[in-house]
Amino acid sequence: MATFLFDKIIFGPVKSRRLGISLGINLLPLDVKYCNFDCVYCECGWSDKSKYKGISFYKKGEIIKALDEKLSNYKKNGESIDVITFAGNGEPTLHPQFSEIIDETIAIKNKYFADIKISVLSNATMLHKEKVFEALKKVDMNILKLDSGIEKTINIINRPQFEYSIENIIQKLSSFNGNVYIQTMFLKSLNKDFPIDNTSKEEIDAWLEALKKIKPKNLMIYSLDRETPASGLVKISLDELNRIADKARELNINVIVSG
Ligand code: SF4
Repeated sequence: MATFLFDKIIFGPVKSRRLGISLGINLLPLDVKYCNFDCVYCECGWSDKSKYKGISFYKKGEIIKALDEKLSNYKKNGESIDVITFAGNGEPTLHPQFSEIIDETIAIKNKYFADIKISVLSNATMLHKEKVFEALKKVDMNILKLDSGIEKTINIINRPQFEYSIENIIQKLSSFNGNVYIQTMFLKSLNKDFPIDNTSKEEIDAWLEALKKIKPKNLMIYSLDRETPASGLVKISLDELNRIADKARELNINVIVSG
């Protein structure tokens, strides 16, 4: 698989399937994907922990300076965007200054464009860190990953690189009191090493039970869009995604489906 890594702190803007015109911020190193998950579908490729020793992050000052320059240019040129999105080469909440960067991003974007939204795409594994949890509460769209309500399935799809507890994650997701977006990737697999079908009845029932507890403001469901590190993964059709979405809508959850 050709590994895709962002080569800048600020990237785009790109027209996002789910967010509109989005300016991306990559808080992670440019030469290695840095994540505590190792998802079978990750567009950045497999996680390679042997490369994490001595890793260095961009400093908050560098990131904010780059964002300031970009937004100030937009202002000068009469351009704008819909959203600033924290994503990039791995899990943004692993950046040691994540909460301070969020605070300064809010201040900078208010200086130029108060109506731009801020979103964070995260795997929800750092919510036990109070500072991360509080920072995510401040952004307009904290979009947190939950690919299954069954821990065994998470262990196959997302392959956590630490001891993962689905109960703890669902409990933390519920503590946002509904001020959270959930994103779920649906997929199947023909690969015997990764037996996956998170669209089965058992899976959907467990996922809906989790959603009942979390009561997300918004739910984003989607399927594969790019080449994946694991072979044999199968994209879910738009019809099937819509059938799944209807089940979540019965819980009065607003659902966005991306085909
Ligand atoms: S959580 Fe995101 S960055 Fe991390 S492995 Fe999964 S898809 Fe890749």
